[in-house]
Amino acid sequence: MRDKAWLDVSIFRCPSCGRHFADASWYVVELESDIECGGCHKTFNAKKQLTDRLMLEFQMDEKGRVREAVTAERI
Ligand SMILES: [Zn+2]
Repeated sequence: MRDKAWLDVSIFRCPSCGRHFADASWYVVELESDIECGGCHKTFNAKKQLTDRLMLEFQMDEKGRVREAVTAERI
């Protein structure tokens, strides 16, 4: 039987340059962390720039490696 794993992911956008990022929702939504943009290096609050949040489902093989990732649910 194939096992599955899940990750709650938040998508957010830099308010200065418009670049999109994805990070774990516990970090973005629960901790309300400030993040430095990898493009323009400005710091912003990721939660305030949230554009989407979803549950990713990873389908695993018997060795615990990821075979495939799909969107399980939009939160
Ligand atoms: Zn930026």
